[in-house]
Amino acid sequence: VKGLEIKGVSFAYPPASRALAPVPVLDSVNLSLEPGSVTVLLGPSGCGKSTLLQVISGLLCPTTGTLTWDGEDLSGVPVHRRGFAMLFQDGELFSGRNVGRNVAYGLEMLRPKPSRVKREARVAEMLELVHLEGFENREVGTLSGGQAGRVALARALAPAPRLLLLDEPLSALDEQLKYELAADIRDILRAEGTTALYVTHDQAEAELVADTVGVMDKGKILARGQLADLRANP
Ligand code: ADP
Ligand code: ADP
Repeated sequence: VKGLEIKGVSFAYPPASRALAPVPVLDSVNLSLEPGSVTVLLGPSGCGKSTLLQVISGLLCPTTGTLTWDGEDLSGVPVHRRGFAMLFQDGELFSGRNVGRNVAYGLEMLRPKPSRVKREARVAEMLELVHLEGFENREVGTLSGGQAGRVALARALAPAPRLLLLDEPLSALDEQLKYELAADIRDILRAEGTTALYVTHDQAEAELVADTVGVMDKGKILARGQLADLRANP
């Protein structure tokens, strides 16, 4: 299987005290992501979406089950070697760096490190992609909420991650801005051909972003398909 394949992944956080049983949060999750597509996991708060993204990124180890990339087991591959990027709700920018240096951050981490000329060209390309052409020298503190969100997306995409994980990236924004940016994110991910897994509890947002939707509840993925089909056959 090309790209990410998740098979029978379960996870439980350690209990708060030894007298308590561990609480299962992911329950035999199976999921494969089609390369170049945007998959949305839609589910209520607390159903395990963030936990699943942390297991995929390597921040948490699954209790049971396997994750593979192009058929290769990921269990021994540390977070920074997976080639994945994450975008969070409070995708905080580095406040002591201007926009250009924020977007260049992931490029500085690449080995071999691209030349300065290449980095600057990629930063410019990314800023153009998120409709912030020429913003390189702006201080982060002068950006609006929507602009900061675009810079965070440009920063995540700059090193061309093989998978982008987005954890409710728009939930701190007001509705109008949220839906506007959701449509932009879809266009930007398609333009870059990025494979992405996007989690949200907001169905309208899911509809704007997704090629495919998985419906998640209580640690399980219940159904998967086009949103229109899922609505017709809930
Ligand atoms: P979602 O992202 O869908 O809101 P989460 O993955 O954040 O769901 O949480 C799933 C469940 O795991 C919730 O019941 C939550 O309270 C619990 N949980 C999340 N993080 C921890 C943690 N660090 N320790 C213990 N329980 C946690
Ligand atoms: P440092 O002093 O931390 O090394 P640099 O000035 O070398 O900072 O910049 C760090 C990174 O940010 C480099 O990859 C550089 O290409 C990028 N960068 C800095 N300013 C800009 C800018 N105005 N436009 C595009 N990229 C920039």
